[in-house]
Amino acid sequence: MTKIEINSLPSEVLNIWKRLIESGYEAYLVGGCIRDLLLNRKPKDWDITTNAKPEEIQKIFPNSFYENRFFTVGVKTDSKDPTLSVIEITTFREESKYSDFRHPDEVRFAERLEDDLKRRDFTINALALDINGNIIDIFNGMRDLKNKLIRAVGDPEDRFKEDALRMMRAIRLACELDFKIEINTLKAIKENASFIQFIAKERIRDEFVKIIMSKNAATGIELLRETGLLIEIIPELVQCYKVGQNKHHKFDVYTHSLKSLEYAVKKNFPLEIRLAALFHDIGKPLTKQGEGPDCTFYNHEIVGAKIVRNILQRLRFPKKIIDKVYHLVRHHMFYLEVDKVTMAAVRRLARRLGIENLEDFFKLREADRIGSGVEKAAPYRLRYLKYLIHKAQLEPITPKQLKVNGNDVMEILRIPSGPKVGWVLKALLNEVIENPQKNDRDYLLKRIEELGRLKDEELKALAEITEEKIKAIESEIDRKLKEQFRV
Ligand code: ATP
Ligand code: MG
Repeated sequence: MTKIEINSLPSEVLNIWKRLIESGYEAYLVGGCIRDLLLNRKPKDWDITTNAKPEEIQKIFPNSFYENRFFTVGVKTDSKDPTLSVIEITTFREESKYSDFRHPDEVRFAERLEDDLKRRDFTINALALDINGNIIDIFNGMRDLKNKLIRAVGDPEDRFKEDALRMMRAIRLACELDFKIEINTLKAIKENASFIQFIAKERIRDEFVKIIMSKNAATGIELLRETGLLIEIIPELVQCYKVGQNKHHKFDVYTHSLKSLEYAVKKNFPLEIRLAALFHDIGKPLTKQGEGPDCTFYNHEIVGAKIVRNILQRLRFPKKIIDKVYHLVRHHMFYLEVDKVTMAAVRRLARRLGIENLEDFFKLREADRIGSGVEKAAPYRLRYLKYLIHKAQLEPITPKQLKVNGNDVMEILRIPSGPKVGWVLKALLNEVIENPQKNDRDYLLKRIEELGRLKDEELKALAEITEEKIKAIESEIDRKLKEQFRV
């Protein structure tokens, strides 16, 4: 029999657990944390289940708070580790009839551990651990762990009708753990997929995000589609299925979207980029014109940005994420003819995309390109564009940066405007380039007076030295940029 070495568990968990036992109650570690321990994964949270009632738990732990709805008491610890800062203790409970596919009509206390385990979603989540290190496994969760299977506890039909979110949890867990969904459980998802519509959008979003953030995100989306869940939650993505593309693409729009997401996952890109990769072409079905190798999708990024905003709003994503993904999708077609383009056009593009978003646009472009299955837009061109954009951001070195200006020169030297004013400023700039601390107004005013005593030829020579120096600095920066972007 598998045992777990109790003393290897975090002391925060052990202390709380032992206090419950010492107070005379039954208490077990239960759910996801046992599953994760057995899989050698770090648990995201630690749950204890007990026959102590919430008031009794609170008496033992004055530093606790009670979440009434689920009979759960949270006990705060001193741990800095967010997975250990609150340990949740839940009284054994069982669930009665569900008539709305999401809320049990009432939640009742249970007397026995067994009843509490029965209400849990999957066999691998219905394992418990007693204080001696023994695994309690009523539903063959250990066998399913070994075989990497997600199997509903009890009759899957009933369980998904009770709480339709469990269907998404099944797919999410399969993605996170690299498991398969057991065949009858999968069949029940297919038959009950439409009940997902009764679930709060926030709960759907949380599972959807976990799928997207898992290493099997693309497989997860495909599982959502195959089971019929995707058409319920994001029908716009199903519309892309089998929409053929032109000669620049190897895959249909849906497959291309999944491949782009897959690449974003492989590169460990953040949520916003993964969402943008998945949805960047979502406007294509609506804008497609013609058929075959010459079909077009004009303005699909404009239409697509609106669609993606709708999707993310519907799923109650935070505004910040919606705005970012909208912007990425809206401008993902950015393009410059790098060999002919002017610096002004480069600057306009940089402004439109936003300097702070540039790296993200390049990441999205990378995912788009790899996801298309045909090498287009040679990476060299992209690197060259990056180089140009960075070059366009450079501030020119000019006398404007000085803390004095032409008027100061004219006033102090009592001369009219003319080339001499420029020579003096450039001579000052030379000094400031050598030593930036000299860009001090009082110092420079004094220097104007001194420089005024030089002959015109001498001033002009100083100005020329400055110009040479600026050229040398600029070409050195350019050389470094070229090196950085390998162009
Ligand atoms: P995670 O690794 O994301 O924490 P988890 O399986 O631990 O995954 P939690 O939301 O922490 O998920 O839930 C803890 C436990 O509560 C689960 O392992 C499962 O036993 C039970 N549970 C959670 N949600 C449901 C549900 N919708 N229906 C039945 N049991 C559930
Ligand atoms: Mg958990």
